[in-house]
Parts: sequence; C-alpha cells; structure tokens
Amino acid sequence: MNKLLLISLLIVAITSCASNYPDFDAESAFSHLEKQCDLGVRYPGSDGIELCREYIINELTKCNAKVESQKFSVVLNGEEIYGENIIASFYPQMSRRILFGAHYDTRPWADKEEDKSLHNIPIPGANDGASGVAVLLELAEIVAAEQPAQFGVDLVFFDLEDSGTYGDNETWCLGSSFFAEHYTKPKPEKAIVIDMIGDADLSINIEHFSYHNSPNLVREVWNIADKLEYSEFKSRIETQIYDDHYPLIAAGFNAIDIIDFEYPVWHTLEDTPDKCSPHSLKVVGQTMINLIYQEK
Ligand SMILES: [Zn+2]
Repeated sequence: MNKLLLISLLIVAITSCASNYPDFDAESAFSHLEKQCDLGVRYPGSDGIELCREYIINELTKCNAKVESQKFSVVLNGEEIYGENIIASFYPQMSRRILFGAHYDTRPWADKEEDKSLHNIPIPGANDGASGVAVLLELAEIVAAEQPAQFGVDLVFFDLEDSGTYGDNETWCLGSSFFAEHYTKPKPEKAIVIDMIGDADLSINIEHFSYHNSPNLVREVWNIADKLEYSEFKSRIETQIYDDHYPLIAAGFNAIDIIDFEYPVWHTLEDTPDKCSPHSLKVVGQTMINLIYQEK
C-alpha cells in the first residue's frame, strides 16, 4: 500500500468516525413549511388541501418511497367529509420499523381569535400542520439517501386531525383513528407523532398519555435530545393532549407525541411562518435522525 493511499484511508476512517449520523437540513425543512403555507389554507374540502396532498405525494415519489393513499369518509357535524391519509414506506423488507406521523390538514376555523367575527376564517397552520409535515418530508429525503442499519421507516401524513369540537375527543384525530383501527401489519417497534414543533420559542414538555403508555420510548427520545444538548426538550410531564398518538395508543402501538402546546397563536390567523424557525425543526428532526440511525 502506498503512503498516499494509507493517508487517504485514514482520513476517511477519521471523518466517518466523527459522526455516524446524517445531518438534518434545517433550511430545507423550513422551505417545506413555507411551501405548504404558500398553497393556501388546507382545511378539509379546500383547494389548498388538494394541492398539499399533491405536494406531499410528489416529494415522497421523488424519494422513491412506496406511497399509498388511504381514503375514507367520516360524518362530522352531520356532514359527510372525505379524508385521505398518505403512507410512505422506506425499506419495506426490513422487519424492525419506526413509524412517524404528522397531520397535514389545517383547522377550518380561527376560533381562538379574541375577535369572534374572525372565528369562521380558516387558519394558515404554519406551526399547526405544516411544521410536522416539513420534518417528515426532510426525514424522507435523508432516509431515502442512506439506509439505516436497524430500522425501516414508515411516514404517515394524517388527514382530519384538526376539525374537532373542543371537549369532544371523538371529533378530533379522525385520520389517525381510521389508520389505527384498520392497521393489519405487524406493529412498528416505535411510533412517534410530531405536531406543533415549529414554534420559534420551542419548549417541548413530556405529554402525559405518551409517558403513561410508553415511558421507555419517551426516555429514549429525551436522552437523545439531551446528548445533542437540545435544552428545548424539557423533563417535566405536562398536559395530556388528545393528539394523533392517542388512537395509536388505543390500538396497541408503542406511541408518543412530541408537541409544544405552549403556542400563544394556536388556532388563530397569526399561525404564520414568521412565528416558526428552521432551528426548531432541526431540534426535533435531528433527534429523530439520531433515533433512526443509532447503531445498537
Ligand atoms: Zn390544531
């Protein structure tokens, strides 16, 4: 072996030891958030939600994922509403799997506005809708480019999360409920729902149902975030939130929710991209990447 070859092999060895984890691109993820908002409001029945479905499917197809649309309909407030979950599978031959979920629909009503005359206007959903999808689409690109050693990955984009009535759990999370109730495959080892994690002032408490059902998965994720020195992950167990992880838990999944529920402009017209930041997407996205690509 000549000297030059030996040196270059050493350099390759050193650099590949430096980090085993792919880098989550914050700016690229944030552009997925902005592009969804540019499509307009994305509530059930809107033009925007159709465009958003096309956008998600197109991005996943570019990543060579196996993409499936799960169509369903529900009756809500006496009206039949059409829904569609989008499911993407990477490395379907791998038996150990992690599932990530996020809702892509946005709320049809800005009913947390102080001014009641604004309550029937649909929200832009930059954080509540677009942020989780943005992280999942960035994960898709990374996972497509490099096969994880241990886990195949499933991404589920849930519809009809956000058209509910406050205080009535049955009216929320309808896409994830349909998905969970009709799931026939062996369950993934871990299932993680990501929601409202774009807030520029990010603070992620441990959600109660998640900790109660899946304490080990909560610990694993929070430990990874701690190693990455992401102080945005807090160790206190706060509110219980009926989010898309709940129907998964009810169906027997090992599922948790990563959510920052302290968002002052929640369900208002102020839920716009300027309230969000690329860094917040990175904090959650890189934590998910390190979970997917861990070696042991
Ligand atoms: Zn919402």
